[in-house]
Amino acid sequence: MSNAEVLEFAEVLEFHIPRGTDWREHAVCKGKTKLFFPPKAERPQARARREAQADLLCRGCPVRTQCQDFARENHEYGFWGGESEEDRHLAGYTVAAPIGVRARLATP
Ligand code: SF4
Repeated sequence: MSNAEVLEFAEVLEFHIPRGTDWREHAVCKGKTKLFFPPKAERPQARARREAQADLLCRGCPVRTQCQDFARENHEYGFWGGESEEDRHLAGYTVAAPIGVRARLATP
């Protein structure tokens, strides 16, 4: 299945989420917190691998849009709705020290 097909499938799933339910109830990342938040002193290469795995889950998640909006509006840390802290920073929803940006600025 191509990335476009995965996203289209997710949009179809999103249509069937019952109104009035908390979007978090439909998150496909339940129990996988370690994929979405960095361990202490995580190296950039490990972060890239971890976030790539997280992104795969997000691509098939029926509440991706709600999750992404929530993280942007609340300036959350971690990987949410298919976006890293750096992605949100670049979209104008920054946190105090977005992890990818901080790591890149520290690189000579
Ligand atoms: S979009 Fe990603 S981070 Fe958000 S609830 Fe779904 S799987 Fe979890």
